[in-house]
Amino acid sequence: MVLSVFKSGDALFDQGVDLIKRKEFAKARSNFEKTIEKGGREAELAGIYIDLIDACLDNNNSARYAKLAATLERKTDSFEFGLTEINPVRVALECRLLAERMDVGRIQGNTSDILEAKGNKFLDVARKYQSQIGNDMIVISDIVGIQANTGIKEALYIQAWGYESLAAGAVLSDPKRAAELLQNAYTCRKQLGEDGQKDMNLMKAYSKSVKCWICGRPSTGEGVHFLAMSSEITPFMRNSDDDILKSAPSDYNSVYVCRPCYTSISRRSDEISRQYYDKAMQEMRAMEARLQAQISSVSAMTVMRR
Ligand SMILES: [Zn+2]
Repeated sequence: MVLSVFKSGDALFDQGVDLIKRKEFAKARSNFEKTIEKGGREAELAGIYIDLIDACLDNNNSARYAKLAATLERKTDSFEFGLTEINPVRVALECRLLAERMDVGRIQGNTSDILEAKGNKFLDVARKYQSQIGNDMIVISDIVGIQANTGIKEALYIQAWGYESLAAGAVLSDPKRAAELLQNAYTCRKQLGEDGQKDMNLMKAYSKSVKCWICGRPSTGEGVHFLAMSSEITPFMRNSDDDILKSAPSDYNSVYVCRPCYTSISRRSDEISRQYYDKAMQEMRAMEARLQAQISSVSAMTVMRR
């Protein structure tokens, strides 16, 4: 009796291994659960397979990789998953790094402090990929179906995100430094074979300097510290040779205005609009009340006439 129970657990395990090869993960998982319940010979491996399958079925969840890493760290011998040979020590390390990278990516918030901390953490993870994985392919990515890179290539992606986050954190206080950080991100993107245009555009914007048309102060960092505001620069004005004019957009349909001037104008105009809006609403309500009163008196008269 005992023998047949064990046999059944082992048979389910073997069937589960075949199901993995066919990528029928959910079915395979239930086989491995039964293997463990029935105490099959390969119960330990069945447990590892379950964690691997959970990572495959939920490959965007860092907790899956942390759990898988902990399971793999208890094993020393290599084994197969589908057609892939798994070195548990190595794949455990990959899972730890992947979980760390995902957790950093999920850090929310756009204050300078958060963005800077996030950027530095990305650079930290990138260094680990470089030194601990290097030119080897990352096995776990292939298994769970996310883009598989070498450690070096993965590090470049993460470095790019790191510098982009650092730049976003720096731009409010130091746009020149933000532009330098974006230069680093751009270099990473180019090495990855991307065009890096987004970084290049931001870099150009952040390093651009103009003078404010309203207060005349110099400002650096288009879109952040100064903005183009709709206007009309007449041909006569275009001929003047002061340096404020040199910092007009080339179509002469707007002027550059520093952020303090820009926000004071827009806030004041919002206040004025608000006042007009409130006044108009007040008058509309009064008119509505008058009309309502007239309608009531007309209907009262109609009833009386009947
Ligand atoms: Zn100004």
